[in-house]
Amino acid sequence: MTNSTPRICVVGAGPAGLTCARVLQGNGIGVTVYDADDAVDSRDPGGTLDLHADSGQIALADAGLLDAFMAQARPEGQAKARRDHHGTVLAEFTPGPGDEAAPEIDRGRLRRLLFDHLRPGTVRWGHRLVRVTPLGRGGHRLEFEGGTTVEADLVIGADGAWSKVRPLVSDAAPQHLGVCFLDARFDEVDSRHPEVAGIVGDGHMFSNDNDGRAVILQRNGDGVVRGYIAFRAAPDWHVGAGVDLTDRESIRSHLAREFGHWSAAMRALIVRNDGDYVPRSFWALPAPLTWEHVPGVTLIGDAAHLMAPFGGHGANLAMLDGAELAHAVSRAAGLDEAVAQYESGMFARSGELAVSSNEALVRFFATTDEPDLPPDPEQEHRDYLARAEAYRQERARRAG
Ligand SMILES: Cc1cc2nc3c(=O)[nH]c(=O)nc-3n(C[C@H](O)[C@H](O)[C@H](O)COP(=O)(O)OP(=O)(O)OC[C@H]3O[C@@H](n4cnc5c(N)ncnc54)[C@H](O)[C@@H]3O)c2cc1C
Repeated sequence: MTNSTPRICVVGAGPAGLTCARVLQGNGIGVTVYDADDAVDSRDPGGTLDLHADSGQIALADAGLLDAFMAQARPEGQAKARRDHHGTVLAEFTPGPGDEAAPEIDRGRLRRLLFDHLRPGTVRWGHRLVRVTPLGRGGHRLEFEGGTTVEADLVIGADGAWSKVRPLVSDAAPQHLGVCFLDARFDEVDSRHPEVAGIVGDGHMFSNDNDGRAVILQRNGDGVVRGYIAFRAAPDWHVGAGVDLTDRESIRSHLAREFGHWSAAMRALIVRNDGDYVPRSFWALPAPLTWEHVPGVTLIGDAAHLMAPFGGHGANLAMLDGAELAHAVSRAAGLDEAVAQYESGMFARSGELAVSSNEALVRFFATTDEPDLPPDPEQEHRDYLARAEAYRQERARRAG
């Protein structure tokens, strides 16, 4: 890059923003990250993530953190079981020894791992972006809650689903996918909830009936099981259902009625959780989403391609976006060329996966007598490894 001191601002310290910053710094390029959170661990970061060999792991290798990730990852967490709503196992997968195609890590650990490897002071916590104003010739002014402003030569929007940077490049907005869920967790699961531990096993447990209700639970680190009790509904479902979302027992009675036809063992997954339910919904951007290149600004991660999590691609693509953009910035003659290069690769990579992930969610929650069996995990793992190899070869070819 000819201008060796561009002012690069990343908005968002999620997987996308932190990976991008780490790879930029690894290439000797300065960057500042702004995040609305008060600290790296100031909120519950959510459940576990599997990082795929062909995307998240490539980004971690670029960040020099693949070994550190593997040291904390849970390969046994790749196990998967599909059950019907009576608890009958329909399909099962146990990873073989040495299978590292998509090991799991808790989001909080991943965030900490990336953050701890940035130069001190890189992330400015407590900075909620409210507006970005173009200044001409690719320059932008960022304004944060409280009135602080900074100017940048490149604004990288890594600020997730409800990105404040996105409107600079696209008027696309997330659309509700018609499915809501309640986040639930079980602590000290092996000793306090052995029946739940037995059903969930070492990895993921997916269960649905044939009328749009599902329970998806995953083993996290430290003896925790977390997951989602999901059903087709509009975001304000609780109003019509007369459910007080601040009252655990009100939610519980509603779920006990809604899932009354599930077996007693499976209902335990729905009503015996620890702590409060956290209501959430699935949203996605129109897919595939592209935009005309705008000088001085781009998007990575969910800000660019928020999709249904049915395929587990979101965080993986977010990290790969971050790494690829950082590489492009380090190699290209100027910021504009770098962003244009990154965007054409990112559009090609994410469009099809976003479409298929959103379709998978619709199928999973459809009313049907045919069980929607998941893709064969063994084949998926072979595919991750084959695509990782193809990706490395393509990169080597591009690097000459
Ligand atoms: C239920 C569920 C399960 C999922 N499971 C998986 C999975 O198994 N595998 C997988 O790969 N993906 C999964 N995903 C998707 C994954 O969570 C996202 O794709 C991923 O977190 C995107 O990373 P990101 O960095 O782009 O955005 P985020 O993780 O959303 O990070 C955005 C950051 O921006 C900050 N921010 C937001 N607004 C502002 C603002 N105005 N100013 C400053 N900072 C701001 C936030 O504080 C946050 O730190 C799942 C998603 C859901 C909802």
